Amino acid sequence: MTDKEEEEELRDEIPSHAYISLARRGMEKISLDQCFLKNCDNDSSELLEPFKKEEFEDEKKKITKIHIKCKKCEGTFILKLENIKSVAKSTKESEQEPLSMGLVFALDEEGNNLGHIGYF
Ligand SMILES: [Zn+2]
Repeated sequence: MTDKEEEEELRDEIPSHAYISLARRGMEKISLDQCFLKNCDNDSSELLEPFKKEEFEDEKKKITKIHIKCKKCEGTFILKLENIKSVAKSTKESEQEPLSMGLVFALDEEGNNLGHIGYF
Protein backbone atom coordinates (compact mmCIF):
# COMPACT_ATOMS: atom_id res chain seq x y z
CA MET A 1 0.00 0.00 0.00
CA THR A 2 1.38 3.43 -0.88
CA ASP A 3 1.56 6.28 1.62
CA LYS A 4 -1.15 8.07 -0.30
CA GLU A 5 -3.51 5.10 -0.10
CA GLU A 6 -2.80 4.69 3.57
CA GLU A 7 -3.53 8.35 4.13
CA GLU A 8 -6.83 8.05 2.29
CA GLU A 9 -7.78 5.04 4.34
CA LEU A 10 -7.09 6.88 7.58
CA ARG A 11 -9.06 9.84 6.30
CA ASP A 12 -12.07 7.57 5.85
CA GLU A 13 -11.94 6.72 9.55
CA ILE A 14 -12.42 10.34 10.54
CA PRO A 15 -16.01 11.51 10.71
CA SER A 16 -16.36 14.63 8.59
CA HIS A 17 -18.32 16.46 11.25
CA ALA A 18 -18.92 16.60 14.95
CA TYR A 19 -21.79 18.17 16.82
CA ILE A 20 -21.32 20.54 19.70
CA SER A 21 -24.07 20.92 22.22
CA LEU A 22 -25.02 24.56 22.71
CA ALA A 23 -27.20 24.01 25.73
CA ARG A 24 -30.63 25.46 24.89
CA ARG A 25 -29.65 26.57 21.45
CA GLY A 26 -29.41 23.06 20.10
CA MET A 27 -26.42 21.59 18.35
CA GLU A 28 -23.81 23.17 16.18
CA LYS A 29 -22.19 21.18 13.41
CA ILE A 30 -18.45 21.66 13.04
CA SER A 31 -15.99 20.26 10.57
CA LEU A 32 -13.26 17.96 11.83
CA ASP A 33 -11.12 18.97 8.87
CA GLN A 34 -9.22 21.50 10.91
CA CYS A 35 -6.15 21.78 13.07
CA PHE A 36 -6.98 21.75 16.78
CA LEU A 37 -3.64 23.04 17.95
CA LYS A 38 -3.46 26.45 19.60
CA ASN A 39 -2.64 29.41 17.41
CA CYS A 40 -3.38 27.53 14.22
CA ASP A 41 -6.31 28.36 11.98
CA ASN A 42 -5.81 25.66 9.39
CA ASP A 43 -9.18 24.40 8.24
CA SER A 44 -8.13 22.86 4.97
CA SER A 45 -8.13 19.08 4.70
CA GLU A 46 -5.44 19.47 2.03
CA LEU A 47 -3.05 20.60 4.73
CA LEU A 48 -3.89 17.81 7.15
CA GLU A 49 -2.11 14.53 6.81
CA PRO A 50 -3.35 11.59 8.89
CA PHE A 51 -0.45 9.17 9.28
CA LYS A 52 -1.10 6.74 12.10
CA LYS A 53 -3.99 4.95 13.76
CA GLU A 54 -4.26 3.26 17.14
CA GLU A 55 -7.26 1.25 18.26
CA PHE A 56 -8.27 -0.01 21.67
CA GLU A 57 -11.37 -1.94 22.42
CA ASP A 58 -13.03 -3.42 25.47
CA GLU A 59 -16.59 -4.50 26.15
CA LYS A 60 -17.70 -0.98 26.98
CA LYS A 61 -16.08 1.15 24.34
CA LYS A 62 -13.92 1.37 21.32
CA ILE A 63 -11.27 4.05 21.06
CA THR A 64 -9.66 5.07 17.81
CA LYS A 65 -6.82 7.54 17.83
CA ILE A 66 -5.84 9.14 14.55
CA HIS A 67 -2.54 10.98 14.49
CA ILE A 68 -2.63 13.94 12.14
CA LYS A 69 0.15 16.17 10.94
CA CYS A 70 -0.71 19.77 10.17
CA LYS A 71 1.27 21.13 7.27
CA LYS A 72 0.49 24.72 8.22
CA CYS A 73 1.85 24.90 11.78
CA GLU A 74 4.02 21.79 11.39
CA GLY A 75 2.44 20.41 14.54
CA THR A 76 0.95 17.01 15.20
CA PHE A 77 -2.29 16.38 17.00
CA ILE A 78 -4.44 13.38 17.73
CA LEU A 79 -8.15 13.00 17.16
CA LYS A 80 -9.51 10.57 19.70
CA LEU A 81 -12.80 8.96 18.74
CA GLU A 82 -14.54 7.21 21.56
CA ASN A 83 -17.41 4.93 20.73
CA ILE A 84 -19.49 3.95 23.72
CA LYS A 85 -21.20 0.65 23.16
CA SER A 86 -24.65 0.01 24.45
CA VAL A 87 -25.24 -1.65 27.75
CA ALA A 88 -26.09 -5.29 27.01
CA LYS A 89 -28.93 -5.99 24.63
CA SER A 90 -32.25 -6.11 26.41
CA THR A 91 -33.78 -9.19 24.83
CA LYS A 92 -32.52 -11.95 22.62
CA GLU A 93 -35.12 -11.44 19.94
CA SER A 94 -34.44 -7.76 19.70
CA GLU A 95 -33.37 -6.89 16.18
CA GLN A 96 -32.47 -3.37 17.13
CA GLU A 97 -29.07 -1.99 16.44
CA PRO A 98 -27.19 -1.57 19.66
CA LEU A 99 -27.18 2.05 20.68
CA SER A 100 -23.87 3.68 20.40
CA MET A 101 -22.60 7.16 20.89
CA GLY A 102 -19.41 8.74 19.76
CA LEU A 103 -17.33 11.37 21.47
CA VAL A 104 -14.52 13.28 19.82
CA PHE A 105 -11.56 14.69 21.71
CA ALA A 106 -8.47 16.47 20.48
CA LEU A 107 -5.10 15.61 22.00
CA ASP A 108 -1.72 17.15 21.38
CA GLU A 109 1.30 15.15 20.35
CA GLU A 110 2.11 14.13 23.91
CA GLY A 111 -1.45 13.00 24.50
CA ASN A 112 -2.48 16.02 26.58
CA ASN A 113 -6.15 16.70 26.25
CA LEU A 114 -6.93 19.81 24.20
CA GLY A 115 -10.58 19.45 24.91
CA HIS A 116 -13.76 17.62 24.22
CA ILE A 117 -14.78 18.65 20.74
CA GLY A 118 -18.21 17.14 20.49
CA TYR A 119 -20.24 14.18 19.39
CA PHE A 120 -20.35 12.25 16.17
ZN1 LIG B 1 -1.93 23.48 12.60
